[in-house]
Amino acid sequence: MSSVSETVLELDLGALHHNYHFLRSKLNPDCKMLAVVKANGYGGDATTVALELQELGVDYLAVAYVNEGLFLRDAGVTLPILVLHPQPVNFELMVAKCLEPSIYSERLLEAFSRFASDQKLVAYPVHLKINTGLNRLGFDPQQATRAADLVNKSEFLSLRSAFTHLAASEDAAERDFTLGQLAAFDEVLPKLRALGDQKFFAHATNTSGILNYPQAHYDLVRSGIGLYGYANAPELDRELKPVMRLKTVISQIHNLQPGDSIGYNRGHVVASPMKMATLPIGHADGLPRALGKGVGTVIINGKQAPIVGNVCMDMIMVDVSEIDCQEGDEVEVFGTIQSAEDLAKKANTISYELLTAVGGRIKRVVLR
Ligand SMILES: *Cc1c(COP(=O)(O)O)cnc(C)c1O
Repeated sequence: MSSVSETVLELDLGALHHNYHFLRSKLNPDCKMLAVVKANGYGGDATTVALELQELGVDYLAVAYVNEGLFLRDAGVTLPILVLHPQPVNFELMVAKCLEPSIYSERLLEAFSRFASDQKLVAYPVHLKINTGLNRLGFDPQQATRAADLVNKSEFLSLRSAFTHLAASEDAAERDFTLGQLAAFDEVLPKLRALGDQKFFAHATNTSGILNYPQAHYDLVRSGIGLYGYANAPELDRELKPVMRLKTVISQIHNLQPGDSIGYNRGHVVASPMKMATLPIGHADGLPRALGKGVGTVIINGKQAPIVGNVCMDMIMVDVSEIDCQEGDEVEVFGTIQSAEDLAKKANTISYELLTAVGGRIKRVVLR
């Protein structure tokens, strides 16, 4: 019997609690934790996750863009929210909702300083992003002191934190590079502290950084993927529980004969009699087309069912010849038997991409 009757993304809040406590257990008691809930909470449901983590006592949240923060505020999230990649066009909304910008360039600093003085903001909290080697966003270490000085001297702004982001914290082969990033960050921090008596906090690590570089937790850590149950390493994945489980059902079963073909462009031609199931999930739901033609599998009654033919926009067909199953039975696309990481590997991608791709039309079901 199936516990689901259509395609759903289950959000297991028990797993979220577990992962939160596991990550907290790696921190000193006075280290703060920021939860990254960008991209709709890594494809799950940002407001559900944010409200739950607010209850649990997380210290801070981060989103990528201003509009993501607006949704959280409208849902009743009161925690401080860092916006990692704000754009000047959204400053007004950002400030109206008490969202705190990452200031990553001269241009952004100038624009926000002007905005803050026009609006007569009082010591509005900002976060200074320092580029130590990811080369994505941030001030070079040499520019950072000047930027922090401008913030300190402005009555309209205050420096809440200074941070950097690691490029390869999950990769043991890049340990020297990562230690170099941390050394660059360590070199600039005392210079920033020497500028004023404001007690800003420092942070550098994402999930893999938290687990692989415990010496680099500073005052706060930023976890995204770990809270959702993945840690970019099999031995660490075992300690965590997947929050998101993508499930569907068997819509129809066909019994096909040699020579019959399956799906668009006759993507698979049957060689020996096949029992085949059609499932209501496709590439429009975030299932990569790369998983077609036997590359990907789903789990039905505990067994692997390979995807046959091409992934359609709204459906896939799977080979269930070896599986005792019937129409209406439950299917796990990813979850506890086949993790999002397992399925991502087959599509030559990473859990992050598979999770954040889960389509908006799929119903989110919260399990408490
Ligand atoms: C997305 C992001 C994180 C979270 O990374 P995880 O690997 O998911 O823990 C942390 N910091 C910054 C700046 C990010 O963009």
